[in-house]
Amino acid sequence: MRLRNITGSREVIAESPYVIREELQAGCAGRWKEIFDNVNPIHIEIGMGKGKFIHTMAKENPDINYVGIEKYSSVLLRAVQKMEKEELPNLKFLRMDAEEITRVFGPREVSRIYLNFSDPWPKDRHARRRLPSREFLARYDVILEQNGRLEFKTDNRALFDFAVDELVPAGWTASVLTYDLHHDEVLMQGNVMTEYEEKFSSLGNPICKYVIIREN
Ligand code: SAM
Repeated sequence: MRLRNITGSREVIAESPYVIREELQAGCAGRWKEIFDNVNPIHIEIGMGKGKFIHTMAKENPDINYVGIEKYSSVLLRAVQKMEKEELPNLKFLRMDAEEITRVFGPREVSRIYLNFSDPWPKDRHARRRLPSREFLARYDVILEQNGRLEFKTDNRALFDFAVDELVPAGWTASVLTYDLHHDEVLMQGNVMTEYEEKFSSLGNPICKYVIIREN
């Protein structure tokens, strides 16, 4: 998602109390429980877009701390505006490229990672930029705690097939895998729709999902 550059979005984000300032990001690693001032688990969404999913999750689960990560200020601005309307103490945002994620979260500090409708980067030479690529899985492996989960959903079948293939070199196995989430009664229990999920499922696109549980 790349919204038209919105004038002033960088400034709004730099001053927002909900967004960790860029110069402070590296200092967050190993300190997230202190930042939220409690010992609740940390769940993150990488590439959260306008933040509908993570805002709903944070509202429904006050005993979990959520961190939303988004690369573009113009997109993150929408999530910040949602927080201004409905503030949640258990939700913070980072404007950053997730390539740097191990700089911001310490080893095994994160209990759950959500990847929702990640950008497909269809050209082969851009494969390492895909959020479920082996390069990113190696980063998630550092920050995910034992028994931590990685959940990925998308309507893009080519990206999903790629993501499933990438699990093998990473040594990970899916404990849940479906090619049609919205017709699976069990998996749909508690499913929170993202913006892209609403849009593409309303067009009739099946939604694929996997769940990985990190065992060691
Ligand atoms: N998750 C949302 C949803 O399901 O509605 C948004 C999906 S949108 C297709 C993907 C988002 O991921 C975009 O807003 C994009 O800017 C962000 N993104 C892509 N690569 C990223 C990266 N390396 N680091 C942080 N954000 C990224």
